[in-house]
Amino acid sequence: MASSPLRLRLDGAALVHNWKTLAAMSGSATCGAAVKADGYGLGAHEVVKRLAAAGCRDFFVAHWSEARALADLGVTLSVLHGVREEDIADRPAGVRPVLNSPEQIARWRQADGGACDVMVDTGMNRLGVSTADVAAGLLEGLQIETLMSHLACADEDSAMNDRQRERFAALAGRTTAKRMSLANSAGIALGSGYHFDLTRPGLALYGGIARAEFATAIRQVVQPEAQVLQRRSVRAGETVGYNATFTAPADTEVAILNIGYADGYLRCFSGKGRARFGGAELPVLGRVSMDLLAIDIAAAPGVAEGDWVSLSYALPETAALTGLSEYELLTALGGRYARLWF
Ligand SMILES: *Cc1c(COP(=O)(O)O)cnc(C)c1O
Repeated sequence: MASSPLRLRLDGAALVHNWKTLAAMSGSATCGAAVKADGYGLGAHEVVKRLAAAGCRDFFVAHWSEARALADLGVTLSVLHGVREEDIADRPAGVRPVLNSPEQIARWRQADGGACDVMVDTGMNRLGVSTADVAAGLLEGLQIETLMSHLACADEDSAMNDRQRERFAALAGRTTAKRMSLANSAGIALGSGYHFDLTRPGLALYGGIARAEFATAIRQVVQPEAQVLQRRSVRAGETVGYNATFTAPADTEVAILNIGYADGYLRCFSGKGRARFGGAELPVLGRVSMDLLAIDIAAAPGVAEGDWVSLSYALPETAALTGLSEYELLTALGGRYARLWF
């Protein structure tokens, strides 16, 4: 198969470094990994392989199809969205649902499902059973591996964090759960009171800086690169791209790259994204197309068809530039990239 004209360079050492850093920050708690949405866009299979080799034992996905795609790796997986009726029959062995509602709990009991995890809502009002239902005995007799809750505001210094932590801590010893787990990436930085037995980072594994505490410790993992498809000379006064939003103020040398919004390089990069070639910085010109991007190559006049150009994608800076979240910047990266781990 011919190689793709766009690729993600993925730093496997940085991924493992980030997990080890988060594991150390988790203190005496075990550190797992959220690998839903195809490992936040990096490719879940390769991510899990690397983290399992580094010692990670607890992996979280959203859907059963995601668990099935990882089954050959023989790791412990939890499915965050729980079980629907249609998931019961052909569920892969050894994968636990995270039960989120009385309905899911009844379904799991009915199926005699065995070991499970349970999500308790402590104030986010997204997924999970209520603490009142737990107190009323909803979980009695369930074989619970991990009792979980999820923080709504861990990336902020909000009073909500403490409120959720207290509600969750009050459940200690009240259920049959072997372990308790509250913290996502940002929650790990809130301190040991948030760590319980198991932490569940996602974003920070992949280089996201969820809070200032991570700024120096967490390393970027992802680097998108695209090949030059064509060079052209644009005369002063001519325009570039859809809707002619860029007008050349002077004769301008332009390269057209094999990347566009269908690859997650969304239209909000129009007129403000940056590419790099050698040491030179090359501004995006005009609108991002579906599969194509124009850049000004004045600073790198030697750029030729077939050359590989890097897109500036440092997560905190790019989030600030575009208004996208670091989560969106990662998960938007599509299926057309060759994913090269080094
Ligand atoms: C996605 C997710 C995580 C990981 O969150 P990050 O903010 O990416 O670290 C942890 N727990 C649950 C329940 C999640 O849905």
